[in-house]
Amino acid sequence: MPTQLSPITSPIETPSGPFNFKETLDRNFPNAYPCDAFVEYSQFRLRPFGIEQKNSIACVSVCRDEITTPFMNRLHNAWNGAFDFSSLAGMLYLGVTGFQAAHHHAPNFDGRERYVYFAFPHIAIDEHGTLGNCRRSGRQAMSQACGALLKILESCSEGALSLDLDQDDLEQSLLKQRLFGKFDFAEIPDLVTLTKITQEIIKEDLERMIHLTVNPSTTDYAVFTGVQIHGPANKDWVWVETSYVVVDGVRKPLL
Ligand SMILES: [Zn+2]
Repeated sequence: MPTQLSPITSPIETPSGPFNFKETLDRNFPNAYPCDAFVEYSQFRLRPFGIEQKNSIACVSVCRDEITTPFMNRLHNAWNGAFDFSSLAGMLYLGVTGFQAAHHHAPNFDGRERYVYFAFPHIAIDEHGTLGNCRRSGRQAMSQACGALLKILESCSEGALSLDLDQDDLEQSLLKQRLFGKFDFAEIPDLVTLTKITQEIIKEDLERMIHLTVNPSTTDYAVFTGVQIHGPANKDWVWVETSYVVVDGVRKPLL
């Protein structure tokens, strides 16, 4: 018998209004970087800490959605490849085994290993500033992102959010289970809030996995996490919520 939550009365908020894309971006994700600028600047900031392409491995988690590919490709180009940590909504389900696999692929020619983690769920904003909306090449109707999060908001509004682990829908059920307890399902969050809650969960999971798998006495690493934003004209932006580097076991802020 699936677990059913009681029906919800609050409507799904689909914020829109007299805003254009940039106003909505600045209001919800202040100081977001254009995607290319983020990739270049993050690499520039890591260099003084001895973390660069030739001696490091990048580990990237974004949503599986093909709309995230340009960001992934830029990171691939900047870091000469990247271990793909991605699942629906950018969640981290690869576990200790996946993290260890990535770490075992890192350069170690100087006796030290260096990992750079990028973890970014995503959201779209169209030219009118409507959150969640995006256009996809070849599709007539307006599309949306992140579809996995929007589906959860839809289930909440119908009062039909099952928290069972569905073997035929593993990633989505794990996402629902992980979100449960992070917000009051009686008050449905808007899409920006849900995206930021998801990002907090991803950060928690990332830091737990780092604690379980990284030895800071032999490894330096950096963490970048926030939200990837898809704007009009296929332009992507990156809002950084947390960024830091840990060198010789000492943590320092980055961006
Ligand atoms: Zn998505």
